[in-house]
Amino acid sequence: MLTDYHLHLRPDEPETTPERYFTAANVERYREAAEAAGIEELGVSEHVYRFRQALALWRHPFWEEQARDDLDAYCEFVRGAGLRLGIECDFVPGAEERTAELLGARDFDYVVGSVHFVGERAVDHEGWDVWEGEGDADEVWRRYFDALAECARSGLFDILAHPDLVKVWGRGRPLPERDPRHYYEPALEAIAASGIAVEVSTAGLRKPVGELYPAPGFARLCVEAGAPFALSSDAHQPEQVGFGYDRALDFLAELGVDEIAVFERRDRHLAPLPARVGEDRR
Ligand SMILES: [Zn+2]
Ligand SMILES: [Zn+2]
Repeated sequence: MLTDYHLHLRPDEPETTPERYFTAANVERYREAAEAAGIEELGVSEHVYRFRQALALWRHPFWEEQARDDLDAYCEFVRGAGLRLGIECDFVPGAEERTAELLGARDFDYVVGSVHFVGERAVDHEGWDVWEGEGDADEVWRRYFDALAECARSGLFDILAHPDLVKVWGRGRPLPERDPRHYYEPALEAIAASGIAVEVSTAGLRKPVGELYPAPGFARLCVEAGAPFALSSDAHQPEQVGFGYDRALDFLAELGVDEIAVFERRDRHLAPLPARVGEDRR
């Protein structure tokens, strides 16, 4: 079984309205791409901050600017389209109860929990770049992974998105001096304690860093922590559905992982990954 759960029906740009993108024709393009990639389970997880209801969680200026659409209309559309219904929800420290309320009021199949911001600034967004004000990479990495640990431990989410997103810029931003394993540690403890599924995301292959999330060293420690894995492309357009899956499947095989997490109405089970037939597939 192959899944693509962390997926957006539209790019992260202005004027990408529901009228243009939440349409049967657009879903069909994603479905065709999924079929061509051998993906059986396709789900959508739009960014929570694009919905007006998200302003109950956080009133960051970026969210104020982005929160235009109606969350319930989105849920209805995705269900009606016969796709798995997910959402990518930022972990907002201090807003745990309001987040639980927002999520619990809707019948999601799964919730992808993300950390994009540390404090008021983002690790992956040039408009709110954490690196502009903060020269110390060790401090940024520490804060990012502490937030990721809180995100996992909150129990609000089923899947931990792009777990080492802080590396997104690769050599385009300062790198920490300490061994990154030092920063992974609190996140690993939280992953083990919470049982959250860790996302293997091929999105990193499309970004300056040019590698999967999570890094091999982090992923190995997740395996040791007993974490299940989920598999996604974080596509923002149909051409990206299943992007880089051959790489991801080799990566999982090398880790000795032969099952992935599958979700329905927030129930999880593990399904076998297709066997790698070695040289024949490459
Ligand atoms: Zn994200
Ligand atoms: Zn995403």
